[in-house]
Amino acid sequence: MKVLIVDDSKPIFLMVSQMLTELGHESVWAENGQDAVEKVKENPDLGLVLLDWNMPVMDGLQFLQKNEGEGFCEAPIVMMTTENKPEKIQQALKHGASDYIMKPFTADIIENKIELVCD
Ligand SMILES: [Mg+2]
Repeated sequence: MKVLIVDDSKPIFLMVSQMLTELGHESVWAENGQDAVEKVKENPDLGLVLLDWNMPVMDGLQFLQKNEGEGFCEAPIVMMTTENKPEKIQQALKHGASDYIMKPFTADIIENKIELVCD
């Protein structure tokens, strides 16, 4: 499966990408929400989007809201967040995220989440 990792931190992209490679998946990187809009359009075969919350230019919530209006992303979206406030999580779910994972996470956590959101 091809996974879009949206995160402004290249070290985080490389770490998550390594986990996905070990799980047999392929990764594409977008460094902010705006870049992610382009990457989603360039990669219609995406199976999953892992979306950071805090990013410059366009953050994760703004990406969700744009997709809510335009519906360009058909893949499930999982938020990767350090936000543990229930109201923030609820906000992401309300705007179209399928689920969320707390940073930092392990390959096992990603694997379980993939089984949960991708059928
Ligand atoms: Mg960030």
